[in-house]
Amino acid sequence: MTNWSIIENVISDDALFQVLNYLKEGKRIDFECALRCMISDDIVALGAMADMIKREIMGDSVTYVLNHHINYTNVCKNSCSFCAFKRKPESPDAYIMNPMDVALRLSGPELKDINEVHIVGGCHPELGLEYYCEMLDAIRVLRPDIQIKAFTAVEIENIARIEGISTKSVLIALKERGLKALPGGGAEIFSERIRNRLFPEKTDAGTWLKIHEEAHQLGIKTNATMLFGHIEYPEHRVRHLLMLRDQQDKSGGFQAFIPLPFIPPRNNNNGYIQGPTGMDILKTISVSRIVLDNFPHIKAYWVMLGLRLTQVAIHFGADDIEGTVIDEKIAHEAGAGTNKGLTRDEIEAIIKGAGLIPVQRDTFHQEMEDVSG
Ligand code: SF4
Repeated sequence: MTNWSIIENVISDDALFQVLNYLKEGKRIDFECALRCMISDDIVALGAMADMIKREIMGDSVTYVLNHHINYTNVCKNSCSFCAFKRKPESPDAYIMNPMDVALRLSGPELKDINEVHIVGGCHPELGLEYYCEMLDAIRVLRPDIQIKAFTAVEIENIARIEGISTKSVLIALKERGLKALPGGGAEIFSERIRNRLFPEKTDAGTWLKIHEEAHQLGIKTNATMLFGHIEYPEHRVRHLLMLRDQQDKSGGFQAFIPLPFIPPRNNNNGYIQGPTGMDILKTISVSRIVLDNFPHIKAYWVMLGLRLTQVAIHFGADDIEGTVIDEKIAHEAGAGTNKGLTRDEIEAIIKGAGLIPVQRDTFHQEMEDVSG
């Protein structure tokens, strides 16, 4: 039984009493209430509410996965204004990995313990479905033990366009070749005005949600992200959360929500976007936990938060810190100052250092047996 009353003593922003009352009564947080949270500076109270919800679901546990990120190409036909990763095909440092090389990346003895591969890349203008199927086939042959989480909704739409087939047909084909889950990238922020300004060629919000719904109907689990701290307003963040919550009510296949703070240094083409403060990041994670009552997990993505803030975030509503990652490129090309990967021991030390219990999970957030000896 949740003892909400103890939070009354820490609330300093009176507007949050209504939020607390909603939680006490088991009522859903509506737009006005969510906006009150998002504009409040009372992160102690918001964090306490979010932590209480997190503890109801996960107790003291915080999960992580032993995984490897692979970015198969940096060639992209789009020109999102925040992206430091994309290259034009003629660029001297453009690359495309052949499918077998993607699989071979997973074959080293140092990767024998990983149980997930996370694969994303640019929207290559010519790579058709066959390339992606060959990649999945090669991975299944070399590492049949690994769960494949791959290709954002933006990439799925790109493949469908190249092939002239539906996005659902693409998902069906990839599922047959072993695709288990979609990552949550490409959601950015669901305001069409902001999308048109910052990433005009990217999959629109309705199509992004439709592709995730199709995946859920096919039994493919997915995640969802939100890129925040650029030119959006609190209202945009709240609408984004509520659109995801509505979609989850309909199709039910989202596993985790991942709030991604905008990283300014090398993305900052116009020189005026600074990115969110640590306070804003913690608040956004807390509000996500409070509003997304039908999302099982909220992730603190250590690559973009940094290790110290991640330790705080797992007391502000997040219950998962992603994984070992190993060779992340996209956030690091944008200027993320974190390591490109962590070991199991380092991940566990982060969680234990925050006074919580590390639990290894698989792609579907199922607890793994401890095989580390
Ligand atoms: S963010 Fe993704 S879709 Fe946009 S330019 Fe970069 S790689 Fe391409």
